[in-house]
Amino acid sequence: MQVLYHISIRHKLTMIIMIIVTISLLLSSLAFITSDRLYTQKNVGDNLRIMADMIAANSTAAILFGDSTAAAETLGFLGAQNNIESGVIYDVDHEIFARYSKTGNTELLPDSTAHDENLLFWDDHVDLFTNINYQGEVIGNIYLRSDLQAARDRLAWFLGIVLAVLAGSLLVAYKMISGMQHIITAPLLRLSAIARCISTERNYSLRVQGSGKDELGTLIHDFNAMLDEIQMRDEQLKDHRHELEQRVAQRTNELEQANRQLASSKEQAESVAKRMEYHAHHDALTGLPNRVLLNDRLHSELSHACRDQSMLAVLFLDLDRFKLINDSLGHATGDQLLRIVSGRLKNCLRDGDTVARLGGDEFMVLLPRISSSSDAGRISNKIIEELSQSCSCNGHDLHITTSVGISIYPHDGTDTETLIKHADISMYRAKELGRNKVAYFTQEMNLSSRRRLALETSLRKALANNQLKLFYQPIIDLARNRIAGVEALLRWELPGSGFVSPRDFIPIAEESGLIAPIGEWVLRSAFAQLHEWHTSGFPDLTIAVNLSSVQLSRSGFANILESALIDSGITPACVELEVTENVAMKNIESTSATLHKLKKMGVTIAMDDFGTGYSSLSCLRQLPIDSVKLDKSFVCEIPENKEDTLIAQAIIAMTGSLNMSLVVEGIENVKQLNFFRQQGCTLAQGYLFSKPVTADAMLELLHNQTIPGSLNLVNN
Ligand code: C2E
Ligand code: MG
Ligand code: MG
Repeated sequence: MQVLYHISIRHKLTMIIMIIVTISLLLSSLAFITSDRLYTQKNVGDNLRIMADMIAANSTAAILFGDSTAAAETLGFLGAQNNIESGVIYDVDHEIFARYSKTGNTELLPDSTAHDENLLFWDDHVDLFTNINYQGEVIGNIYLRSDLQAARDRLAWFLGIVLAVLAGSLLVAYKMISGMQHIITAPLLRLSAIARCISTERNYSLRVQGSGKDELGTLIHDFNAMLDEIQMRDEQLKDHRHELEQRVAQRTNELEQANRQLASSKEQAESVAKRMEYHAHHDALTGLPNRVLLNDRLHSELSHACRDQSMLAVLFLDLDRFKLINDSLGHATGDQLLRIVSGRLKNCLRDGDTVARLGGDEFMVLLPRISSSSDAGRISNKIIEELSQSCSCNGHDLHITTSVGISIYPHDGTDTETLIKHADISMYRAKELGRNKVAYFTQEMNLSSRRRLALETSLRKALANNQLKLFYQPIIDLARNRIAGVEALLRWELPGSGFVSPRDFIPIAEESGLIAPIGEWVLRSAFAQLHEWHTSGFPDLTIAVNLSSVQLSRSGFANILESALIDSGITPACVELEVTENVAMKNIESTSATLHKLKKMGVTIAMDDFGTGYSSLSCLRQLPIDSVKLDKSFVCEIPENKEDTLIAQAIIAMTGSLNMSLVVEGIENVKQLNFFRQQGCTLAQGYLFSKPVTADAMLELLHNQTIPGSLNLVNN
């Protein structure tokens, strides 16, 4: 049976049909042969009976008469019958009466008693027994034996025909099946071919042709319906896949975009971080390292120097009178100058050196691995020389100088703070030496700071012991050649040591808080003195009193001033309070508020040492300033110094436009006086007229009005 699974439908069909045809034919043949056999047997039986009846009729008389010969003759006609093998006539006693045998063989004759009237079919012959009746009585029996050769021949013939018909039928059936089986197999083969094509090409638009109503037609229809479904699903799938691909592409795109954005954000963040890092460590204006970066580098260079036992120098640079340029010629010029200075500084240095801007006009240079301290001096002088070259800024030809302080590792300090502090101290020393100078740090400088401590102690005693004094310097009204007012200047007379400069002890007084009682003492003494002069015949005389930042920032100062005014009995209008730029600019808002309060009391306010501090000209507008005192440092080289001349002219013009009066400080010679007179200045102060003097000497000056400068001026 397994074989059946492996053969084609065509062959299966052929085989099935052939089997059916064969069986049908065989059954038909069998039926036909059987019926024919029965018919033949009946014929044979009937013939035998007829013959027996004839024999019986013809032999009755012979039996009755016992004439066996006549009976044998009657049997003789059996010889004409081909199929009769033998015939016997028995008498009433069942004895053979007469017989006939085709072959003469009598052995085959049955016993007459053995058979009743009967017709018996055997394989190869037929036996007939019948009675011979006469007048209702059995007078004998007849036995006939016929062979079945004719029936067998007929059967053989029929079998031959059956086989021939069978063979012919099978052949015809095979031919027909072969010809017709494609009706079944062709659609199946088409179905199979389409199915194979679809499975290999994935072309679901293919359809199987066929429109029969039979099972194959239904199969094809269902198959096509299934293909419709598959095609629809395939198209949906394609659509979905297409949609999915589009989504994936879109998502990929978005992801790529997000990645790009992320990368660019990262870049931006990095660049912002870099910029922030840069700004945190560099000066915005010049691009030089700032104090933070310098400290870092100094720190790491110090550890190298410590390890290598090498020397290192820290240079502290401060541009001389830079603020003045900044304020008078504008910030743009100042900024440009700072950039030029930065460039020049870098040009003076080696690769491993660092130049940093600490702010304003302060720079610091770090010189690691120097072989001797003289290297630092050499480089400092190179810097001074380089910076002293004139430079062109915004159309101005400027000359700038610088003061340099040097501290050396390990001599002057072993840590960053000490080295910077000592370089700073040295720089101030360089300034004291007359600017544009280099100063190495010495321990004496440190001593001077210790001296400050001693001074503080002494100052306390001085206040208690009345060792403080006021000197007065006249302020000249150039138009009238008269003393318009006086400036009270504090003096501290140390027994045996002379006078200590207020520039030395005022900062100590400020730091120690002594400035409050000292300041109040100054106010009361100066007002009392002015009142005395007023009553001595100089009622128009005014007095200028210097204020410290500490005094001004104290909340009770206005009350102290008011009380001093009331106690002295002078009018507030005679009093001018001098504040320095640095004081005013420290906290411009609260200073402005305080100054407004003081002004309301009737006093006037002057901006002292203008040009040396950190304010800009525009800041003046924010403060209730009545007059400006041009610092003597701009005056001393006038008119020779072109820059100073320019600056002075700018300040004069500015105060004029702001409706402020201007006092020129530090006039020491007639040239200076003439210059400022020509510039229209009306108030001046300086050694040319008088140094600060005692109250008595001042009274004498007031009486005499012998003012050398004024006389000279008159003479000129
Ligand atoms: P300042 O207020 O600018 O005072 C003018 C200074 O210039 C005075 O120095 C004066 O002696 C000096 N001077 C005047 N004319 C000339 C000149 O022609 N040539 C030169 N080279 N110098 C001249 P002084 O008395 O040593 O005072 C220095 C500073 O100390 C004052 O500068 C002021 O800021 C401060 N000061 C003085 N007295 C007091 C005070 O009572 N209280 C406070 N807080 N500060 C004071
Ligand atoms: Mg002053
Ligand atoms: Mg001054």
